[in-house]
Amino acid sequence: MARNKYDVDESLETPFDFSHLKRSLVYVKRYKWKMLFAMLLSIAASIVALFGPKFIQAAIDVAMPNKDLALLFRYAGLLTGSILISILLSTARGFIMARVGQDIVYDIRDDLFKHLQALPFSYYDSRPQGKILVRVVQYVNKVSDMLSNGIINIFIELLNLVFIAVFMFLTDAKLALVIVAGLPVLAAIIFAIKPAQRRAWQQVNNKTSNLSAYTCENIEGVKVTEGFNRQAENSKIYDRLNKLTNVFWMKAIYVSNLVGLSVENISQWVLAFMYMAGIAWFYPAASVGVILAMGTYASRFWQPITTLAMLYNNLVNTVSYLERIFQTIDEPVEIRDAENAYQLPPIAGRVEFSHVSFEYEPGVRVLNDVSFTVEPGQSIALVGPTGAGKSTIVNLVSRFYNITEGQVLIDGHSVSQVTLKSLRSQMGIMLQDSFIFSGTIADNIRYGRLDATQAELEAAAKRVQAHDFIAGMERGYDTQVNERGGRLSQGQKQLISFARTLVADPKILVLDEATSSIDARTEQLLQQGIQELLKGRTSFIIAHRLSTIQSCDRIMFIDGGRIVEQGTHEELMAQKGRYYELCTAQDKELSMDEASTVVIQ
Ligand code: ADP
Repeated sequence: MARNKYDVDESLETPFDFSHLKRSLVYVKRYKWKMLFAMLLSIAASIVALFGPKFIQAAIDVAMPNKDLALLFRYAGLLTGSILISILLSTARGFIMARVGQDIVYDIRDDLFKHLQALPFSYYDSRPQGKILVRVVQYVNKVSDMLSNGIINIFIELLNLVFIAVFMFLTDAKLALVIVAGLPVLAAIIFAIKPAQRRAWQQVNNKTSNLSAYTCENIEGVKVTEGFNRQAENSKIYDRLNKLTNVFWMKAIYVSNLVGLSVENISQWVLAFMYMAGIAWFYPAASVGVILAMGTYASRFWQPITTLAMLYNNLVNTVSYLERIFQTIDEPVEIRDAENAYQLPPIAGRVEFSHVSFEYEPGVRVLNDVSFTVEPGQSIALVGPTGAGKSTIVNLVSRFYNITEGQVLIDGHSVSQVTLKSLRSQMGIMLQDSFIFSGTIADNIRYGRLDATQAELEAAAKRVQAHDFIAGMERGYDTQVNERGGRLSQGQKQLISFARTLVADPKILVLDEATSSIDARTEQLLQQGIQELLKGRTSFIIAHRLSTIQSCDRIMFIDGGRIVEQGTHEELMAQKGRYYELCTAQDKELSMDEASTVVIQ
């Protein structure tokens, strides 16, 4: 599995791929009627505005020579009216399209988020969070305008162009030809710039993504940073990433600006040339009024071209975002229900590993032919050195990864053959870092079973000894906690997660016991909590405290991805093997050793 880091760019797709745009139309099509209506409003606005120069021309050529003041006022009134109506129609269109744009963003983000929630652990193992976040939040925002207003504007501006061209050619065909002569030159310039422009925006995305990754990493790790006084060093890294983003952004802007600059230049040259040609060659056949009107048309003709050039820039930019968005949506959901998956019926909780081998990365065996059976209601302590494979074993019970060889059976059903929902709804998982979500304490306890009543929450909290401290908080169960439970102690977080698991009432429980040392009183509460949780459930505990280990029905000593010893505490002590060594070792680096000195009950 390729790993990505904050200073490693993601790979770039080389050719400009229109399929991304085509695919994004799926989202656009849902709003086609609203978009069509908005487009009609725009067209109406443009048509109304187009009458303006005609009124000016008539005022100059008819009303002024005849000194007809009443007619002059009438043309002035018509001009003002047409401008006003045009503005009103454009504003209405603006509102409709703002809605459509946001609806498209909503839909894409919804799909992305749902997909992210289905992606396997391995996806998250292999890339920084910030690179995922930037796609869901920033990139989706960036494509919204192109997919809503952008698409309409392209149509409208093209139509505008045709309308203006028609008006121009009807007014004076020769002068009109002079005005459109700049188009082929512009097309050639755009074509030449395109590859560099696309690459530049892709690079910008990469650098922004790297910056986001490092920002997220640092927010997550801020306490460690401050603890180790790493601020200056981290700021240097951040500064480097920030500068790179800045530099590549400016590069992209320079390249993109070439398009706008070319349009501006060509349009001015064309205008100047048109006046010169008009006066030198076509006057008096073309009247002053006609030449002036053609001047206005020339500016109007090149206006949509300027807008189209900007839209084109956005389009190139948008494709680079869409690439990344679709890449995420296309990320395979490796852990999914098998085609003929069936519901796991309510289980008793028998767990069997049959010759299970597992690799996170191809060729690197982490579990090697592991076989064991746990009867319903039994508690198993998994012990062994760090990196032995304990967490991997428990991750496979809930099928967080697909096993490489062998079978994991629950009550005789293979975990790969039953639906994930029916499997995981009967499992409870508590990790060392008891994750607390933003919301109230009650929300956190109810996390795994939304229909749990307040009485059930309190009953669970009482059983795991969490009720007293919760009741003591300013708003009890309704006290707000922030993400990661910043205001709660480690022990309190653990107790809340015990209550959460008890409410969900799983048949199989996986518990990664916290290693951090806590005060003796909390330690005692946690032990009581654990004992409550274990009752009537098959439990796997990655145990660090001797007291927990001793209270389990069986202990499995894992090393090098194999079970090297198993039995009760007494049996293993009598064997005088690895477990015995671990228990008796004085070496302080074994965390279990320290825990064994904790006095419980
Ligand atoms: P333990 O829980 O006993 O400390 P783990 O089951 O977490 O051990 O890890 C077993 C081995 O698998 C270790 O060598 C570890 O480096 C490797 N490992 C763990 N998680 C991953 C992962 N997501 N990707 C690749 N290798 C991993």
